[in-house]
Amino acid sequence: MRYEAPSSLDQAVALLVNEGGVARVLAGGTDLLVQMKTEVIEPVLLIDIKGIDELRQIKEEAGGFRVGAAVTGAELKEHAKLKLVWPGVVEAANLIGSTQVQGRATMGGNLCNGSPAADSVPALIAAGAKATIVGPKGRRDLPVEDVMLAPRKLALAKGEIIASFLLPPKPAHSGDAYLRFIPRTEMDIAVVGCGVSLTLDAKGVCTAARVSLGAVAARPLLVAPAAAALIGSKVDDAALQKLDAAAQAACQPIDDKRGTKEYRIKVAGVLARRAAQIALERARKG
Ligand SMILES: Cc1cc2nc3c(=O)[nH]c(=O)nc-3n(C[C@H](O)[C@H](O)[C@H](O)COP(=O)(O)OP(=O)(O)OC[C@H]3O[C@@H](n4cnc5c(N)ncnc54)[C@H](O)[C@@H]3O)c2cc1C
Repeated sequence: MRYEAPSSLDQAVALLVNEGGVARVLAGGTDLLVQMKTEVIEPVLLIDIKGIDELRQIKEEAGGFRVGAAVTGAELKEHAKLKLVWPGVVEAANLIGSTQVQGRATMGGNLCNGSPAADSVPALIAAGAKATIVGPKGRRDLPVEDVMLAPRKLALAKGEIIASFLLPPKPAHSGDAYLRFIPRTEMDIAVVGCGVSLTLDAKGVCTAARVSLGAVAARPLLVAPAAAALIGSKVDDAALQKLDAAAQAACQPIDDKRGTKEYRIKVAGVLARRAAQIALERARKG
């Protein structure tokens, strides 16, 4: 097996394109190395992207933030302004694993591992984040909800790498939140995850919302009817009940040792309500 550590995206893309065998991008390695040790995959080439500056930076851009795909959860948490503006995204990334795992794990790896239960993905979707993808044909942007197609299946062509995520400007009186349910207190995979982002007008009426659910379908979902339940309301009990019903209706979960289908569907509604209430409090605080 070869290990390469390019210093530019162009070099990384060329390495991926020119390898005929199984090649993998290595970010934090917290999924990849586990899969290699258990022989789930046996790459002939590993391309370590952590030496590429563009992928390691957090920058303010176009009123929002551009977060490099290889920025770790620990680094996100240390960025005071990002944490203030998009707390749901930063909190979601920091639910991943333990303190040690957060020192390595990246949002790019969380998305590209292709798990429907990945914690940072519903938070990014709720935030309206776009993934900037670089490949042999240049750069393109894709909404995060369109990147993962099915478990372990991504909308990335051969040679493409996620370079960064663009978080949009956050309007005044907006808030976001991410909650997940796990059977243990930490270090477990989400039974359900839910991200909510919403905006209020001067009268406290919700004018925009995005709701995303994880671990309840083959891919993380953007649930438009759940957002519609909030828009036009003051996010009162009636709206929260509609949100709960819409979130439940969107679920197509599996049964597994962490929860039955019925359980996951019920929890999705509860988490959506609770995440919306946190987002609401944050939006009211401005
Ligand atoms: C003990 C433990 C606990 C965990 N707990 C959680 C948890 O609570 N929640 C959760 O969601 N996950 C959890 N995970 C899984 C893992 O930590 C996360 O998915 C993490 O975000 C992966 O990021 P990484 O940088 O380590 O990815 P890597 O392992 O480096 O890569 C993962 C996959 O993505 C590809 N890849 C990485 N970056 C890119 C890129 N920029 N462009 C294209 N492809 C790329 C790699 O080739 C690989 O296939 C846990 C893992 C461990 C070991």
